[in-house]
Amino acid sequence: MSTRTNRHYFDHAATTPIRQSAVDVWVENADVLNPGGTYASGRRAQSVLAEAREMIADALGCEPIEVVFTGSGTEADNIAVRGFAQAAAHRGETPRIVTTPIEHPAVKETVSALSAGATHADVDYLPVTSTGHIEDLSFLQSPASVAAMMWANNETGAIQPVAEAARACQETGTPLHVDAVQVVGHLPVDFSSLGATTLAASAHKFGGPRGVGILLAKRSPVPSPIITGGGQQRGIRPGTPDAAGAIATAVALKEAVDEMDAERTRLTQLTARLRSGLEESVDKLVVHTCEPNLSGHLFVSFPGAEADSLIMLFDSLGIEVAAGSACSSGVNRASHVLLAMGVDEKVSRGAIRFTLGRTTTDDDVDAVLAHVTDVVSRARLAGMA
Ligand code: PLP
Repeated sequence: MSTRTNRHYFDHAATTPIRQSAVDVWVENADVLNPGGTYASGRRAQSVLAEAREMIADALGCEPIEVVFTGSGTEADNIAVRGFAQAAAHRGETPRIVTTPIEHPAVKETVSALSAGATHADVDYLPVTSTGHIEDLSFLQSPASVAAMMWANNETGAIQPVAEAARACQETGTPLHVDAVQVVGHLPVDFSSLGATTLAASAHKFGGPRGVGILLAKRSPVPSPIITGGGQQRGIRPGTPDAAGAIATAVALKEAVDEMDAERTRLTQLTARLRSGLEESVDKLVVHTCEPNLSGHLFVSFPGAEADSLIMLFDSLGIEVAAGSACSSGVNRASHVLLAMGVDEKVSRGAIRFTLGRTTTDDDVDAVLAHVTDVVSRARLAGMA
């Protein structure tokens, strides 16, 4: 807990601290057994799972049967994108996928694997504007095996026209998968009126436990299962469901939705103060987050500095920020999102993502503003690799 109180945490889009209500309900239900059991303890587990499904359906405007629990947002994305591509392959077709160049790796790498692997999928990428938004949906005018589009980008926070995409997909009978991992719990979601076929969410992005994802899946069409097993959860995601994780997710989501309007107003103000403070303190700041955007995202570049140096210097001062780039290999690479938006490679390498959330206070913003001038000038002195 102490790490939470004495650090200034600005990586809420990566994961946000779990809500106490979710911890409490998880602990209460930690001894719940197999929801598939046809005896008393099984019925108890089944009723916990059913309650979780009902609460989630209520929060996201869908039917309880449409709620499928997974192990992560990544898994939910894989089930949908691979599953619909595989369904086309089973019909003897070469799958056609329409997606965007700014997807999270959970979708991006899945599409690449389907295109390069035995499936040989054809892929069309909807172009992105310099503000990070998808505007031209022309590729959706012809039918595809699956279209996959994120509702809001995890790096810039840019909100995408998913309702328009859903309308275009309905015209051609294309199943649309919406990656709503950054949106669920932060913006209103009504799955039934949206018109998408599947939608992915992830509990740890709205104060639920890590390791629980959600796939909303309409009754038809359904993705072909990508894992096989005991047929649980309509066969879409077989395996014994985690009832305690499910109810903790449902409780966290209800709380997030109840607080949503007030929290959006609060975060919009805090983020605006951070942005204007950075603009005043740092010369040549480049702001990559453009409206319409999520209220807690601020993605900026400090040209002349490497993101790695900035992160290390901020970290030594108790300030936790992230780069937008994929640096899991330890090598700082330019963000694929910024490159797709046409941002210069060097500028991209100095990109830092501040994401504010439920626990962010004025004090956290003050800490960044107190140190940013010094941090950036030291990082610029260290130069680019
Ligand atoms: N999709 C988006 C847009 C995300 O931001 C993330 C996580 O950052 C994921 C998918 C993957 O979610 P998870 O971490 O639950 O696998």
